Amino acid sequence: MIAGSQVTGRLGAIAVRNVLFDEPMSAHTSMGVGGRADALAFPDTDEELCHLISFLRREGIPFLPVGNGTNLIVRDGGYRGVLVSLERLRKLEIARVEGSGDALVHAQAGVSFAGLVDLSLRESLTGMEFCAGIPGSVGGGVRMNAGAWGQEVKDIISSVTILDALGRIGDMVRKDLLFEYRNLDLPAGAIITGATFRLAKGDSAAIRERVSEIMAKRKTRHPLSFRSAGSVFKNPPGNTAGKMIEEAGLKRFRIGGAEISEKHANFIVNRGGATAADVIALIDTVRERILGARGVLLEPELKIIGDEI
Ligand SMILES: Cc1cc2nc3c(=O)[nH]c(=O)nc-3n(C[C@H](O)[C@H](O)[C@H](O)COP(=O)(O)OP(=O)(O)OC[C@H]3O[C@@H](n4cnc5c(N)ncnc54)[C@H](O)[C@@H]3O)c2cc1C
Repeated sequence: MIAGSQVTGRLGAIAVRNVLFDEPMSAHTSMGVGGRADALAFPDTDEELCHLISFLRREGIPFLPVGNGTNLIVRDGGYRGVLVSLERLRKLEIARVEGSGDALVHAQAGVSFAGLVDLSLRESLTGMEFCAGIPGSVGGGVRMNAGAWGQEVKDIISSVTILDALGRIGDMVRKDLLFEYRNLDLPAGAIITGATFRLAKGDSAAIRERVSEIMAKRKTRHPLSFRSAGSVFKNPPGNTAGKMIEEAGLKRFRIGGAEISEKHANFIVNRGGATAADVIALIDTVRERILGARGVLLEPELKIIGDEI
């Protein structure tokens, strides 16, 4: 195991302008729980990212890319190594496709889905509406194949730009990308640096109406006044995790500060003072109860990293 101070000292050797050492990840995740990362680095450019990653590989320092932390729980013991946030990589470009009203929108990994939806509204481009209200970044959203209302990122992706394990940046086109439910199967060690979405010319009033309708549905159905990481479990075939948890009588079931939402049973909310251990214990309890009652082992959708205390 690498001690925090060891990583800190070794990281000082490279020129990453923005690094937070011994940083509490509760401040960088939507659930608001979790321990400290030895370092949380924010490269400003692709070049800085490449230098950072090749340095970390050379030194054998563990690392992991993170986006907006809206699908992420860091255990209370923290993360030994460097979490690499791509939030400062925020370039956004549009290219019109000749002969059609379609557009290719290239977004760097740190662009938020909210920013993409805004752009699609401004430019009257349709296809992104289902992403309204998903609080993730392009990097995290593509990695998770985020989806809602019957659509997924895979439906609008044209290509994904990755930094591979050999330090090369290149594009992978849609036909070579293995998307599945809430997952993009990436080559080992690959980091998404950006993605290109193909959107069609649409009617701006219709796009706006669909976005408003989706935002209104989210407000009614999701517990947005509490901190959460969105849906905790993937839906098993032929059912929804939320329905199964509700039918098991687990709404408002609580461990420490973590509670199964009364509004939507597939959300765990932080009622204040929750720890990552509370959230994980609640996840384990739900899985056991549903396995016992229904014979179905729910698979978590959110990602859990780091060490226990
Ligand atoms: C209120 C709320 C509502 C939500 N609604 C939805 C919804 O409707 N549909 C849905 O699918 N999700 C939903 N989510 C979950 C979450 O927003 C999505 O999964 C989102 O895509 C995660 O993006 P992120 O940038 O926050 O990723 P993070 O949480 O930071 O990371 C998620 C995973 O992606 C990896 N990752 C991040 N960036 C990169 C990168 N650049 N390259 C490679 N891997 C990377 C991380 O290592 C981690 O494994 C919701 C969450 C909340 C809090």
